[in-house]
Amino acid sequence: MNSNFLFDPKKIDAVVLSHAHIDHSGNLPTLIKQGFKGKIYCTKPTIELLTVMLEDSAKIQLQDAQYLRKRFQEDIEPLYSKADVIQTMKRMVGFDYGEKFEVEPGIEVVFYDAGHVLGSAQVLLTVTEGKKKRRIAFTGDYGRKNMPILNDPYQISSADVLITESTYAEHLHDSFKYVFEEMEWVVKDVVGRGGKIIVPGFSLERTQEMVYVLHKLYLEKKIPAVPIFVDSPLSTKISQVFMKNVNYYDDQSFKDFLGRAKSPFSFKNLTYITSVNDSKKLNNYNGSCIIISASGMCTAGRIVHHLKHNIEDPRNLILVIGYMAKGTLGRRIVEQKRKVKIMGSYYNLKADVLAMNEFSAHGDKLELMNNIKNIKNLKQIFIVHGEEQATIVMKNNIKEELKFQGEVIAPKLGQEIEIN
Ligand SMILES: [Zn+2]
Repeated sequence: MNSNFLFDPKKIDAVVLSHAHIDHSGNLPTLIKQGFKGKIYCTKPTIELLTVMLEDSAKIQLQDAQYLRKRFQEDIEPLYSKADVIQTMKRMVGFDYGEKFEVEPGIEVVFYDAGHVLGSAQVLLTVTEGKKKRRIAFTGDYGRKNMPILNDPYQISSADVLITESTYAEHLHDSFKYVFEEMEWVVKDVVGRGGKIIVPGFSLERTQEMVYVLHKLYLEKKIPAVPIFVDSPLSTKISQVFMKNVNYYDDQSFKDFLGRAKSPFSFKNLTYITSVNDSKKLNNYNGSCIIISASGMCTAGRIVHHLKHNIEDPRNLILVIGYMAKGTLGRRIVEQKRKVKIMGSYYNLKADVLAMNEFSAHGDKLELMNNIKNIKNLKQIFIVHGEEQATIVMKNNIKEELKFQGEVIAPKLGQEIEIN
């Protein structure tokens, strides 16, 4: 299905990409394979992140295809290869926030910080046709205030049309500030009983945020100096991109770390693990430690091995910091099933489980509505990137709470709409 586009890639002039998350960027190599000839515009950190993330994606696809071929004897090809990724990277053009550039004659673009992940952008397009100018704002994935590392989302002040995401349009999140207190308590408690903390970490942003929190607590002497392992080649590479891009950090990061000549992502308790052998050695590690490993939903990767080795010890804690989709091992752990199946065998879930919801990278109901309220001159609003219920709630709130008089549209997949 991912190889079929609802449009002809040869007829697309340019791609403007909001951020590096794979649900936004992961199919760009297919687009190029199928004849897209233009450039891909995004922020500079997005290019650096995609260099490692798309390569990782190609590698996983190759492994999956090889496995499926062996298992089902079918001729299964990966969606794209490393060579396709290299071709994709050559098309990318990077800009900083606030820089104005033209993608096609009459179409000007500016990126503004979305506060969602490193390098994430909101997009403001100015389209000129004859004497008519229209400004089209796109939230991209819209972030949250007061998150570590990232600046708060920029407020676009005026546009004619808004395309807004709606992922958490019906939820309110807890503030991230509670994470510091909670982690202090959690680490002291688990280390006090001689246990380990296992964190299924999403490689982009959440892993770095967790490291940031632990490093800060360690500097403030609020937690004991237990070893922390980031066990994932992808998370390690992404953390290196973070270390290089200090100009994109918020003021708080300067106060907490950079102003004291420290990097949030490097300190003496912290070890990044890339080799399989070093990862396996953790299985026999004696004593308390914190292991942050991928994948985030526990569907594959090294985290599965760490869970297998640690899930039956009641001294341990599995700390869930992200959404777990139905049908994943992560979901079964959050639901605290007594027995969980890992790599074909059943294990007793005796470790403690704690789910923290503060790490969400998407603005909640209030933040999304505030953003819309503060954009002047809007005539049309399109709602995207949310489940049906969230979309309905947002549409009602825009009409009823904001008393918006213009048009609110929740487009269907593949629907073509003319902008006024
Ligand atoms: Zn995203």
